[in-house]
Amino acid sequence: MKSHVKAVVIGGGVVGCSVLYHLAKAGWTDIMLIERSELTSGSSWHAAGGFHTLNGDPNVAKLQAYTVQLYKEIEEISGQSCSLHLTGGVMMADTPERMDFLRLAHAKGRYLGMDTELITPSEAKAMFPLMDETNFVGAMWDPVEGHLDPSGTTIAYSKAAKKLGAEIVLRNRVVELTQEVDGTWNVVTEQGTVKAEHVVNCGGLWAREIGRMVGVELPVLAMEHMYLLTEPMPEVEEFNKSTGREMIGVLDFKGEIYTRQERNGILLGTYEKACKPWSPVNTPWDFGHELLPPDLDRIAPSLEIGFKHFPGIEKAGIKQIINGPFTFALDGNPLVGPVQGLTNFWCACAVMAGFSQGGGVGLALSNWMVHGDPGFDVWGMDVTRFGEWAGLRYTNAKVRENYSRRFSIRFPNEELPAARPAQTTPLYDTMLANNAVMGDSWGLETPLWFAPKGKEPRDIVSFHRSNDFGPIGEEVRATRERVGVTEIANFAKYEVSGPAAEDFLNRLMTNRMPKTGRIVLTPMLNEFGKLIGDFTIAKAAEDRFMIWGSSAAQKYHMRWFEKHLPKDGSVRIHRFDQTLVGLSIAGPKSRDLLQKLVDVDISTKAFRFMDFREMAVGGAPCLVNRITYTGDLGYEIWMAPAYQRLVYQAIKDAGEEFGLVDFGMRALLSMRLEKNFPTWFRELRPIYGPFEGAMDRFIKLEKNDFIGREAAAKEQAEGPKLRRVSFIVDAADADVMGDEPIWAKVSKDYGTVEKPHGYGAPRFDKSGKEIRGSKAAEGASAVRGIVDGDWRVVGWVTSGGYAHYVQKSMAQGYVPAALAEDESAGLFEIEILGHRRPARINVEAPFDPSGEKMRT
Ligand SMILES: Cc1cc2nc3c(=O)[nH]c(=O)nc-3n(C[C@H](O)[C@H](O)[C@H](O)COP(=O)(O)OP(=O)(O)OC[C@H]3O[C@@H](n4cnc5c(N)ncnc54)[C@H](O)[C@@H]3O)c2cc1C
Repeated sequence: MKSHVKAVVIGGGVVGCSVLYHLAKAGWTDIMLIERSELTSGSSWHAAGGFHTLNGDPNVAKLQAYTVQLYKEIEEISGQSCSLHLTGGVMMADTPERMDFLRLAHAKGRYLGMDTELITPSEAKAMFPLMDETNFVGAMWDPVEGHLDPSGTTIAYSKAAKKLGAEIVLRNRVVELTQEVDGTWNVVTEQGTVKAEHVVNCGGLWAREIGRMVGVELPVLAMEHMYLLTEPMPEVEEFNKSTGREMIGVLDFKGEIYTRQERNGILLGTYEKACKPWSPVNTPWDFGHELLPPDLDRIAPSLEIGFKHFPGIEKAGIKQIINGPFTFALDGNPLVGPVQGLTNFWCACAVMAGFSQGGGVGLALSNWMVHGDPGFDVWGMDVTRFGEWAGLRYTNAKVRENYSRRFSIRFPNEELPAARPAQTTPLYDTMLANNAVMGDSWGLETPLWFAPKGKEPRDIVSFHRSNDFGPIGEEVRATRERVGVTEIANFAKYEVSGPAAEDFLNRLMTNRMPKTGRIVLTPMLNEFGKLIGDFTIAKAAEDRFMIWGSSAAQKYHMRWFEKHLPKDGSVRIHRFDQTLVGLSIAGPKSRDLLQKLVDVDISTKAFRFMDFREMAVGGAPCLVNRITYTGDLGYEIWMAPAYQRLVYQAIKDAGEEFGLVDFGMRALLSMRLEKNFPTWFRELRPIYGPFEGAMDRFIKLEKNDFIGREAAAKEQAEGPKLRRVSFIVDAADADVMGDEPIWAKVSKDYGTVEKPHGYGAPRFDKSGKEIRGSKAAEGASAVRGIVDGDWRVVGWVTSGGYAHYVQKSMAQGYVPAALAEDESAGLFEIEILGHRRPARINVEAPFDPSGEKMRT
């Protein structure tokens, strides 16, 4: 065993071996994987070995597609077979709502390079004859699904990594991790200490314990999971013989079941409602290649539905039931990347679908370690996406909820109840008394909308417009015509101070820093000139700045700020989180209202648009920004939590004469739509450049050498390929939710949509024949449905909804830059729930395009 290496990867499951392989492939060969026992001694060995590309997050889906195409490569390099069975698979819908869900997934696939197809239950039955198709209303076929040998695959990664020069040390547990002042890690193992520049936690079932070695409680929990294997079945053998192919994989949402052929029988697994965590507090170090006792009672309700839906399986004898643990984060996606607050400590854990995601996780993490950036939009997997609130008990409740809902529909207006309320502001009870429907905003209870008096404050979940539509409209109209107040505690807030604070921010941000008492809006870029932040910054004093940003990105941004902080202590950064809360008032009467609560002149001239002041509001010390996300005349008022009730009550009292209303987050988001304002993590994400994101006026290339300047200058010089635009959509009773394809009537391929077979996986038709060569290339666009006569998919929606004041359904999204200014009717359509609706680009914001109202 070497005593010094560049990186140590802890854990020899499929994820650790993939990370090792990708690091070696990227050129870091002075690396070592340390495994406690033999390879695959965690959850990897007893996995069902299924893989698929679909994921709720399109960016994660891309990395899953990469994983599937990788298997051929590692087989070739290692000489080890993964026993790949690329059978294809179907997802079965039993209700119209589930069919809507499949339509959405299918539509998304159009620009993700996926060849999914909506098919009838009978077509599905032809590929999996054990089902009773009368239980279903439709299905979606995905040719890139299948199964493999979990151990063989893990070994293939490890052998490929070794061939590239990596070292693997087995039967050697890492017992402690300490760090020297110079950042070197001491990886203390049973066989001695290894010094390493970087450490990667791929501990799988023990990832939480490895996190604790460095003082971090990772939001990860293992759950017991069962699948059964039947005895050989004559029906299976007969199907194989008569068709010359294997039965496909089937996912049955209603039964919470996945099933497929395994040898001459069937494998059937469940995500049961009565799920059970495993080792909820500490994972025993002596657990290894053993299985957990099966518990048929727990999965009986799923099996009952399963046997009804697949009567062919009920007749078969059960050969074995496998019950094993594997890990989940709160939302079921992995935890990947550098841990905020530590240097060179990386995570690749909570990977619940190691054989769908392991390759993508390895690639993204190795890119990040070697090149400083994951190379993909990995926000959906970023280890910083959960805050301190995601402790052991919170994680336990949320992971159980996620597991039990794995095959449930999540509606766009659906808030999930587990582990809530976690964080509340002092106004929580007041908001409930006001009949607020609350939502979870990065662990904080936040009012979404207010139900009318006498009505139950509850969302009726739906893909269509729902019971919040009328009340939100009222909130918007009252705000736009009079004045409204809303809670904004769920914004991120930071203070940057010290003699070099301004230089620091000038280096990080694309816009010039404001003069004292003024505010600027500014994006932040990474070295590759991609958008990694969007902030409001106020200069409070010569050496002190206040910053507001996206709540969900607080740890993500802190990690970036800390990475670039000067080592000499000349800049300090403080994240307030819930130690600073806020209220926003907006609407034409907001100034009159605020003037009643302050003892200073806030007339247009004395307190201009984009001014910042510290002032007492209703007697409470506050920070006030003359800006609101509604795009109207308005203010953001920030205070310590102890004063929030006082200020709110003062606003309510003073607002009575102006007809003040409470409004929630959904009204705020509706108002931003009619101003064409983007949102972070929807319109603005690290896959877009600043000119693509239409942030031109905030990019001051001439100001100084900020991070990403060179790449941004190049983007501007060459012209962006894509452009963010706003649409007015001729919608019916459903508005866009995000991720819908945008069609255009154009003759030319703009090349912005993923190329067919960009991920190189072989493709099969429904009869099981592989489509090869030019036929595959020619047929691909048609199969995938990105070309339809004169129409082509040219882009995708990022977000949207109903803009209540202008009474229009609106969407924002990305299209080829050449089309971005074209406002002609008949040029675009947006696919909402399977129906293509006419849409028209709206270059100017439909509400107050000149911005006069904000400035008055
Ligand atoms: C019943 C069942 C069915 C499943 N079916 C599927 C499926 O069909 N498809 C799919 O994609 N996924 C499936 N999974 C999930 C899959 O198994 C996991 O996603 C995958 O195994 C995660 O791999 P990993 O490398 O992160 O973790 P693990 O496999 O748990 O590996 C972690 C490794 O780290 C080692 N380690 C931990 N701590 C230390 C230490 N301190 N020092 C040294 N070594 C250490 C462990 O010994 C272990 O070998 C299934 C899981 C189960 C239980």
